[in-house]
Amino acid sequence: MEIIDGKKISSEIKEECKEAALKLIEKGITPCLAVILVGNDPASSIYVNNKKKACEFCNIKSLSYELDENTSEEELLKLIDKLNDDDSVNGILVQLPLPKHINEDHVIDRISPLKDVDGFHVNNVGALCTGLDGFVSCTPAGIIELLKRSNVDITGKNCVVIGRSNIVGKPMALLMLRENATVTICHSKTVNLKDICKNADILIVAIGKPRFVDSSFVKKDAVVIDVGIHRDENNKMCGDVNFDDVKDIVSKITPVPGGVGPMTIAMLMKNVIKASERY
Ligand code: NAD
Repeated sequence: MEIIDGKKISSEIKEECKEAALKLIEKGITPCLAVILVGNDPASSIYVNNKKKACEFCNIKSLSYELDENTSEEELLKLIDKLNDDDSVNGILVQLPLPKHINEDHVIDRISPLKDVDGFHVNNVGALCTGLDGFVSCTPAGIIELLKRSNVDITGKNCVVIGRSNIVGKPMALLMLRENATVTICHSKTVNLKDICKNADILIVAIGKPRFVDSSFVKKDAVVIDVGIHRDENNKMCGDVNFDDVKDIVSKITPVPGGVGPMTIAMLMKNVIKASERY
């Protein structure tokens, strides 16, 4: 069994971004990401801080907009308009979730697709569906990097994705299809989940339930990617997969922490560089 080391691979990607940023700076373009946070959700504040730190490491300028919990949707949309029109801003990220009085769809729709480094805008999702170039959601894009940089052959493989969220499951399935896998998407209404998973050469689990997937779901020598992030009853971090139970069956597996988690921010940096190079 081989551990897929997300920490190491994400560091390599951040180093590549750092070099690419320096090249852009030499040409007179300073890559710049605007990060908007509305309210004081503690988890969101941590995510935003980590994104700012990664920008600093990669020579990407970050602009921070920390807005009051009671900011109206109109005010937020106005700020997005301003950043869309600002040529010195290459990427715009609005940290989700937003307070309940703000409609997330309106906000995502307002970000220029050319600056949508999270890859959530319908134009970028459409580009992914039709095989055009665009920004891809960071977590699934990071999983493709993990597989490729760990020499996992994807073409022709049976891939099962558990989860159909817009942020992980759906773009993940489309990316695996683009990489020529035969893809099955499972969700909360799937019948015979175990049987379907048992067929997977590559099993990607984004179900949001701690240690849900055990050895009874996994085919011998499968590659298992665990997207989940949880804290168990002992405050220990764990994923959607029961690592200890499956580790002797799989050929490769991502651990939690240190697997998929660090890739999300690294891919955000990569998207900001892409946005800056396009500019
Ligand atoms: P979500 O809750 O939006 O989606 C969960 C999906 O699982 C749904 O599509 C649902 O249909 C499916 N599901 C639920 N119960 C099921 C069942 N019994 N059988 C089969 N399918 C079932 O979650 P999400 O946003 O896609 O995130 C999934 C997990 O990944 C969460 O633990 C989240 O914290 C984690 N996550 C990690 C990162 C990262 O950077 N590592 C990024 C995003 C999400």
